[in-house]
Amino acid sequence: MTSGLISIMVRGCPVPVKCYLAGISSEFGRFSDEYRVTMAQRNDNGVTLTVLLIVGGIIDHGGARMKTAHQGGHRVTLLFEIKGNSLDDGPGIRTVVFFKGCPLNCAWCHNPESKSPGQEIAYDPNTCIDCGRCREACLEQAILPGNPHSIDRTRCTLCCACIDACPSGALTRVGFEKTVEEVVRIALRDKPFFDNSKGGVTLSGGEPTMHMDYVADLARGLKEEKIHVLLETCGFFPYDRFRELLLPHLDAVYFDLKIFDDARHRTYCGASNNRILDNFRSLAHEATGSGLALLPRIPLVPGITDTDDNLHSIAAFLQECRVSKVDLLPYNPLWHDKCRSIGADTGMAVGPGMNGFMHRDHVRHCWDIIRRCGLAGKDG
Ligand code: SF4
Ligand code: SF4
Repeated sequence: MTSGLISIMVRGCPVPVKCYLAGISSEFGRFSDEYRVTMAQRNDNGVTLTVLLIVGGIIDHGGARMKTAHQGGHRVTLLFEIKGNSLDDGPGIRTVVFFKGCPLNCAWCHNPESKSPGQEIAYDPNTCIDCGRCREACLEQAILPGNPHSIDRTRCTLCCACIDACPSGALTRVGFEKTVEEVVRIALRDKPFFDNSKGGVTLSGGEPTMHMDYVADLARGLKEEKIHVLLETCGFFPYDRFRELLLPHLDAVYFDLKIFDDARHRTYCGASNNRILDNFRSLAHEATGSGLALLPRIPLVPGITDTDDNLHSIAAFLQECRVSKVDLLPYNPLWHDKCRSIGADTGMAVGPGMNGFMHRDHVRHCWDIIRRCGLAGKDG
């Protein structure tokens, strides 16, 4: 795919040839589930006619796409949390908006509920009172009597009848739609706290840039209200669209750099890092002398990103980009429980050191490497 926005509203097609969109859809296995595409094929005298109904737009995201949709003329997208009073996601007191969907597939993702661009169901065994109402409500028999606390995700149609029947809140929807205007209104409630603490709104995920049009509208709306806007990104986005649509409305970017070696990045993050490194280079160049605060961050993951070799390589890259500050994010194992709650596989990322918090001596060792390479922490 080439980069750019493809906005399509197709209801049938008079051209009796195999539609090239069918080729696009076959490139992405779950295309029809995630993008509300209805596709029918008919074979007329040996010629395939493909009929498509696509609701919303499709954005090329270099291999990953999110639908954009409108409700009553308002742009809407799928979020999984809006968290107020955060002190961990940028300067001051912040409201953090978490977007669904990510183009990477990091083995240790600390927000595994963010990965899928679609809605999911989470189950909390600590809240469940084992009343069985969810099983009774499920017409698909996806909640089996022999395994009452586990949803068979291959049968589940996401009808949410079990959630509505659950009296304890043990079952919850992961993912909800909000318009840009609704999110701006929610953020405005905390404006006095932002103003007093030099805080603002952080766009996080998931990967916010998968929702580029929505995020650009949101960032613009927040700036009109004089709210500081910070983007947290995995760096995998189409740079030209980012630069044109989103960058003008950002005050700060926290940019994750995980693994420098491309082969290891493909193994542990599910994609090449070429685009990420190119984007960082471009953004670092752009940020120089501008008002934009750019902070690279390295999540420390035992045996994967926290190796001396990886830290040295990233530090050298940052110096080449003339960036002098970096943040290290010590490993947090709480993602294991989140994976279980949505029935996701913890996969390969359960190696040594993966089950507990990182020892502070090791974090200190990582910082020593970074500082010896001439870089400083975010606070100097
Ligand atoms: S969402 Fe619907 S299909 Fe899925 S487990 Fe619940 S009741 Fe069953
Ligand atoms: S309805 Fe809720 S509380 Fe009852 S068994 Fe199902 S998940 Fe547990």
